[in-house]
Amino acid sequence: MQKLIERAARDLIGSQYVIALTGAGISTESGIPDFRGANGIWTRNPEAEREAYHTYQRFKADARGYWEEKLRGSSVIGDLVKGVEKAKPNPGHYALAKLEKMGILKCVITQNIDNLHQKAGSKHVLDYHGNAFKLRCPKCGNRFDLKEYDLEKLKDEGKLPPLCPICKIAIKEDIVHFGEPIPQDILKRSWEEVLKCDLMLICGTSAVVYPFAELPRIARQRKIEKEGKIESGLYLARQAPAVTIIEVNAGPTPLTHEGISDYLIQGKTGDILPKIAGEIEK
Ligand code: NAD
Repeated sequence: MQKLIERAARDLIGSQYVIALTGAGISTESGIPDFRGANGIWTRNPEAEREAYHTYQRFKADARGYWEEKLRGSSVIGDLVKGVEKAKPNPGHYALAKLEKMGILKCVITQNIDNLHQKAGSKHVLDYHGNAFKLRCPKCGNRFDLKEYDLEKLKDEGKLPPLCPICKIAIKEDIVHFGEPIPQDILKRSWEEVLKCDLMLICGTSAVVYPFAELPRIARQRKIEKEGKIESGLYLARQAPAVTIIEVNAGPTPLTHEGISDYLIQGKTGDILPKIAGEIEK
């Protein structure tokens, strides 16, 4: 493990544009369960996963009923959001914020909705699946601070659903549900980052949720021309991978099995990421 940590530190130092992709695994050490890990929400309750597939359709068909239901009671995602409110960043989040401060890490693209990267001090964060502390208009795409809306009051006054102040149509949480398109702005900026990076650090994701799971695959297809010396002494241009991809995860993922990642550092992100940052500081 120590050898791999040193290798990662060397790779990060030698790169020009490092980005991190993160998933629910980086937040399990903050007390937020993941979905598909050993103790994940879907692993323990597959029925809840099946139900979650209908949430977005429910909003589209009946936004008022959707909000009333949401405020009335408990759902798996509702419980997740409640847990998220109390959660604090862990050493994995802080290590990424530190790498950004050191000028090494340029951007975090996260599937997490928990805002913990921002709480840890990361400035350049793309919330690929939205943010639990925001609402979003499906038409204009503007985000609004959840605190600006007194949802309980709207419910008591019979004024649900909350409306976009610009478009005057029903808005939903910023969280992206199954079947819901990824917001255009996030999609575009994530692509730009993936096409720019020369090192991708993938932390705590099972890499099975699409289109997020495409991002490392797109990066892997990128090639650069490198000059190499052949036997006759001539220098010839050859194609080489443009991006180094490192996984930090509790276990292997499809990215490991398919050879998308160059190597996996197996273990806890809260343990490994601070060690990588510490090695770079040395
Ligand atoms: P996932 O549950 O599919 O996979 C998590 C991965 O992280 C697993 O491979 C697991 O083995 C690994 N892992 C768990 N704890 C770890 C640790 N301490 N260190 C290293 N690895 C660890 O999660 P996903 O790939 O992010 O996909 C799930 C979807 O659910 C995402 O879209 C995300 O939006 C959402 N989600 C978010 C949160 C959150 O915001 N914290 C929590 C649960 C689910």
